[in-house]
Amino acid sequence: MTVAVNGEKIFLGTNGYPLQSAAVYGPIHSRRYGYSLGINPLPISYKFCDFDCVYCQYGWTPRPGSEVQRTEERLKSANELLSEVERIFQELTAAQTPVDMITIAGNGEPTLHPDFLKFVKGLVRLRGEYFPGKRIGILSDASQCHRPQIREALQGLEERCMKLDAGDPKTIEQINRPAGGFNLKRTIEALKSLDNVTIQSMFVQGTCDNTQAEQVDRWVNAVGEIQPISVQIYTIDRPPADSRIRPVPMARLHEVAEICERVAGVPTEVFE
Ligand code: SF4
Repeated sequence: MTVAVNGEKIFLGTNGYPLQSAAVYGPIHSRRYGYSLGINPLPISYKFCDFDCVYCQYGWTPRPGSEVQRTEERLKSANELLSEVERIFQELTAAQTPVDMITIAGNGEPTLHPDFLKFVKGLVRLRGEYFPGKRIGILSDASQCHRPQIREALQGLEERCMKLDAGDPKTIEQINRPAGGFNLKRTIEALKSLDNVTIQSMFVQGTCDNTQAEQVDRWVNAVGEIQPISVQIYTIDRPPADSRIRPVPMARLHEVAEICERVAGVPTEVFE
């Protein structure tokens, strides 16, 4: 599915929400981060992820060999991506566009890019050239953070926001629907040994629910083990892949945050 915006073809997820249409997007302004520039090392015509979260804003993940993936937009090499990023960085600096932060995210899970370490090293170099002093962060599902090369890349960034929506494999299976090979215990161990991790957790209700007492207890235990520098919790505010899930009332999110702070001893903030 596509739409035309200002003559540009934009691809849509299965839920009708637009995918990012280039290797660099934004900047998007938020009170927290100021002007944040998004970096997408992934395809622009389909979501590329090893999770298939029920709440994903980009809709369901296409399975290998599915019709969407047969369009065969290939992943760009690190060098191709870096050339595109540099061209846009040049345009942004020439236009004096304000940029406060650079965030690697994009149409799926960025650490799945096969040249991720090389790409990150190049991006850090370009940041030094065009936006010196600005921070680079990542939004990741944490599935690859046990791999040595991915760890090296992650440690080269200033901010690591890593997903953890549950502390038990059954709930992860229901909410994140990971591809084969995901191992929650291994991920928790890997997160424990990364520096200055922020955990981001999405809570949902409806056909899947990670807000019940037992699931919250297990999630809090996992957070306590990891001991991140902070936890950010939130609920859906964009069209989810599964239209049968619902946002969680703010009152319950605040209860979950309070339990996390008290039991795990980690500052926990509700994103509204
Ligand atoms: S990890 Fe992120 S991109 Fe992947 S399915 Fe979940 S929400 Fe979507």
